[in-house]
Amino acid sequence: QTADQRAALIPRYIRINTLLWEIEEAMQYFASKGFVLKETSKKEFAKDEHIPALLLFHPDVSFQDDDAYKAGKVILQDKASCFPAVVLDPPVSSNGSVIDATSAPGNKTSHLSALMSNTGTLFAFERDRKRFSTLEMMLSRAKCKNVVPVNDDFLKVDPMDLKYSQVTHILLDPSCSGSGIVNRLDYLIENEQDAQVEQEERLQKLASFQLMMIKHAMKFPAVQRIAYSTCSVHAIEDEHVVRAALKSDEALSGHFKLAPENEVLPQWKRRGFPSEMDDPRHAASLVRCLPGEDATNGFFVSCFIRCSEQEDSET
Ligand code: SAM
Repeated sequence: QTADQRAALIPRYIRINTLLWEIEEAMQYFASKGFVLKETSKKEFAKDEHIPALLLFHPDVSFQDDDAYKAGKVILQDKASCFPAVVLDPPVSSNGSVIDATSAPGNKTSHLSALMSNTGTLFAFERDRKRFSTLEMMLSRAKCKNVVPVNDDFLKVDPMDLKYSQVTHILLDPSCSGSGIVNRLDYLIENEQDAQVEQEERLQKLASFQLMMIKHAMKFPAVQRIAYSTCSVHAIEDEHVVRAALKSDEALSGHFKLAPENEVLPQWKRRGFPSEMDDPRHAASLVRCLPGEDATNGFFVSCFIRCSEQEDSET
């Protein structure tokens, strides 16, 4: 299969921005535009079976000119890209404090904001200035009112800063090789040319950076849950990074382990590669998506949780 053929098999996923639109209202809207609730032809659509508020359309359907898209009610977001915010499961509370460490263009930030029902505070870091402008535009269009966008390098943020003392959840979706992406419309590739070249050295550099980001996230004193994801299909950026993070000083002193399988999209069948983990049983806690087979782009999701010292000594 060529990349184009694989892309043609991926439905047009749209996430309904529940800050602005009830899912039932959205379904009525699309029905009024001639779409029939089911999935096969260009004029049919369906509700996704794993992700709430996600609808599937024929891959040829375009939403760029749709009024609902222009009003921020529809977010063009691949199914796999909706996994991290759902796995992170952020709090819905006026005291909630969450970080999206690598935010632009902002699809996962606006998803987190919707899952938090616009309550609490969501700090959204993005170090690139141009991409930060895209993020701001996206957040304003989606009417995300609980987000504090910060144009800064997450690695330079002091975890002991009082501002972040209540942060309990961190979403980490750092730069990666992008090797899983077949449906490029849904992603804003950071360096398109780079994404074509996947030499070992480059992957190794990305993996060191990704590990550094996870270790930094583990230093936040109140953090309980960290979702780490990539749109790469390479174990070097996925299982190997997770395996190194689990052995790091930060994980050992902070008592971090992998969230159990039943907290990480248990209904999703494709899990991590057991042979790439030190403990093959850990692979069940990891989620993988395979382009061409799962009707999504290639993707990887993991989730670290902090356990009590007692729980840690028992494992
Ligand atoms: N989560 C985003 C979404 O779903 O729309 C996509 C994130 S993209 C894979 C990674 C982003 O992280 C890029 O925009 C990149 O500029 C940013 N980034 C990379 N390193 C960073 C750092 N140290 N601090 C903050 N942002 C960073």
